[in-house]
Amino acid sequence: MNREDQLRQLRDRTNPWDIVVIGGGATGVGIAMDAASRGLDVLLLEQSDFGKGTSSRSTKLVHGGVRYLRQGNITLVRDALRERSLLKTNAPHLVHDLAFLIPCRNLWQRFFYGVGLKIYDLLAAGNNFATTRRISKLESIQQIPTLKPEIVSGGVVYHDGQFDDTRLLINMVQTAHEQGGCVLNYVCVDAISKDASGAINGVRATDQESDETFDISARAVVNAAGPFCDAVRQMDDPKCEPMLSASQGVHIVLPRKLFPGNTAIMVPKTPDGRVLFVIPWHDHAIVGTTDTPIDEVSLEPSAQTEEIQFLLSTAAKYLVTPPQKEDILSVFVGIRPLVKGDKSARTASLSRDHVIRVSESGLVTITGGKWTTVRKMAEDCVDRVVKEASLHAKLCCTRSQRIHGYVESDFDGAPRSFYGTDLALIQQLESETPDFAKPLHSDLTITAAEVIWVVRHEMARTVEDVLARRTRALFLNARAALAIAPNVVELMAAELGRDETWCEQQREAFRKVAQFYLPQSIG
Ligand SMILES: Cc1cc2nc3c(=O)[nH]c(=O)nc-3n(C[C@H](O)[C@H](O)[C@H](O)COP(=O)(O)OP(=O)(O)OC[C@H]3O[C@@H](n4cnc5c(N)ncnc54)[C@H](O)[C@@H]3O)c2cc1C
Repeated sequence: MNREDQLRQLRDRTNPWDIVVIGGGATGVGIAMDAASRGLDVLLLEQSDFGKGTSSRSTKLVHGGVRYLRQGNITLVRDALRERSLLKTNAPHLVHDLAFLIPCRNLWQRFFYGVGLKIYDLLAAGNNFATTRRISKLESIQQIPTLKPEIVSGGVVYHDGQFDDTRLLINMVQTAHEQGGCVLNYVCVDAISKDASGAINGVRATDQESDETFDISARAVVNAAGPFCDAVRQMDDPKCEPMLSASQGVHIVLPRKLFPGNTAIMVPKTPDGRVLFVIPWHDHAIVGTTDTPIDEVSLEPSAQTEEIQFLLSTAAKYLVTPPQKEDILSVFVGIRPLVKGDKSARTASLSRDHVIRVSESGLVTITGGKWTTVRKMAEDCVDRVVKEASLHAKLCCTRSQRIHGYVESDFDGAPRSFYGTDLALIQQLESETPDFAKPLHSDLTITAAEVIWVVRHEMARTVEDVLARRTRALFLNARAALAIAPNVVELMAAELGRDETWCEQQREAFRKVAQFYLPQSIG
């Protein structure tokens, strides 16, 4: 997968594309993968890097959503549990089973959550991960050695899926490409074009690297711009009413020593009614999330001091050593594209289900939903587009579509197994040049070979692409990522043939973006 080849394909195209997809997050990439595998000519355009938006900033759960069970949304939970199972089958190198403990203060809580989660198991109907069980105080502490003993009388353990969101996203981009799709990052859609009757017939887009503009014709245009979908809808109809209500969710990342063991904590109800997770991930611990309504959406949202304080103080109620601000290794913030409810609704109770709307001129907008359900969202969307634009396409086949990197064996937790079949090729680079095998930083696992690999094969164009989304260095330890950025710049410049001006611009750009992830720069 090479960006120059993809650009050439775009330039050489004389026929209209069947579908142009705007947005390279989970939703857009899912649609590109589905459309390409049905034999449609699909072009995906992402204004920044794949996953720069919400899709890199999730809680990393492939789940039915215990909180939706509490809201009584049985259909949503059942559908998501089915998708959880399909995703684990199709991307076993990336999705794995994780145990979650709900710490209970008394017998009533153990009974209540035990029954609720048995229903969760039943809804999975044959697609279960391990089954739910009630456990004693002693076993709760054995599972989570840093759990405060005085706050539990026992617990309920249930199972859900965990993944690396951008590793899955990049592997899905590769799968779409392997099926014949054309996929481009750093190409922004600036306008939507229409024919004399007012029907949409393409888009105008600009390559953010060269400023080259493209007038692209298409039989159908899909707006999968996530939190930005109202801006794209306004390109079609400047007077349209916004359909989204945005809220942001903050996560903090802590050192593993504060949270050893392989079981996550799920707090079903914080004092202000939210759900909170403490999750082991890539040998670190993630605590999240908040749910704060926001007025404006941005590609790099900032955490508020109160949100960090809330996460620290809630985690402190459960952990023997209360985490301090100085312990935080990274902070990341994602924006939920929630389909609007009535004005009085709190964002936490708005719909997480997806919505597809078709405008009068034919723009298909898809939004809402969640990472876990993108395959189904894409299936529904492509079915709708095929109907609206009278396209000839095969039936959806993504239920059994193996994702790039697929391995026969289940995830075994071995270091870097999330690269799947590509790991052997990265290791080959490392054995050819032993210097490439050394971690670039003592607190991170990333090697020079990984940098080279993702530049050559995964369309990483900037230092941020490498450190935030191809590897997760910036999300795991922002200070360490900042420290190795100059090294990564050198490696990338050699691969991409860039000069010193590019290197300086990259170092500066990464310094700026890292501020959003550094806890000491937030209040
Ligand atoms: C805090 C948080 C935690 C979450 N945790 C989970 C979880 O654990 N499990 C789960 O299943 N779901 C989770 N979700 C939900 C899930 O992450 C989202 O539903 C999903 O990532 C949305 O993907 P998307 O593609 O619609 O949006 P995005 O990922 O935001 O993608 C939209 C893309 O469109 C691009 N774009 C915008 N305008 C243009 C333009 N003009 N031209 C070209 N490109 C454009 C943007 O740059 C962006 O990359 C979470 C969400 C949040 C906020």
